[in-house]
Amino acid sequence: MKIGLIGGTGFYDLFPVLIEQCMETEYGQVTFLKGEYEGKEVYFLPRHGTTHGVLAPYVNYKANMLALKKVGVEQVIAVSAVGSVNPDIPIGGLSLLDQFVDFTRRRDNTFGRFSVDMTHPFCSDLQQVLKSAAQENGQTLYENTTLICVDGPIYETRSELQLFSSWGMDVVGMTNATEAALARELGICFSAVTLSTDLATGFAYIPPDLATHKKVAAENKDKVKALVLKAISLLSEQKRCLCAKSYNDYMLVKK
Ligand SMILES: [Zn+2]
Repeated sequence: MKIGLIGGTGFYDLFPVLIEQCMETEYGQVTFLKGEYEGKEVYFLPRHGTTHGVLAPYVNYKANMLALKKVGVEQVIAVSAVGSVNPDIPIGGLSLLDQFVDFTRRRDNTFGRFSVDMTHPFCSDLQQVLKSAAQENGQTLYENTTLICVDGPIYETRSELQLFSSWGMDVVGMTNATEAALARELGICFSAVTLSTDLATGFAYIPPDLATHKKVAAENKDKVKALVLKAISLLSEQKRCLCAKSYNDYMLVKK
């Protein structure tokens, strides 16, 4: 059983042995780190590159998702740092995404072969596994959260954040909507957990900079890892979701 894990560089010590592997795709080369946990193969994909040098709008999302597909991964858990526009989700809060509004305008978020159903953009099976993992670990996981995905890399204005909040958005991030759309096109089960690293609502001023993101991510690393490892241990190959049905082999043929 092959599981994909997309996240920041903080996962490097998640498994005792990680073997670096490269995969060529039609959209570029991707570097994975392959590990093993409880008899399951885990392919860790550092979203921003192995040195965290690639900012969100410049990530090669299509190559990343296609490489996971080609290596045989069927289920992907993504972790990302976000700003919280819902004051009920505090700094350090873990949220399970249920919906998103894709506000990106300058990136390629489709393989462009056909239309896929995105009514429920995240895998229901993986969502359930992550909820169970949090429960078993005694961790708080904010459920039914909605992401607004923006291009970045610049952060939002106060007016934008107030608007997003008034729309009922919970967190603002730069990556998961693109990954979810591409995963769905490839028939990959995809679910995302976010870590709120700043309160983006403007009422509590903590600068939304990369250093702050990294600091909060480091402080909450163990919590995120515990959730991910428990979820991996609970994952089974039996699926009730419909994610795989959106894929056909035509997807892998480059135009
Ligand atoms: Zn699924």
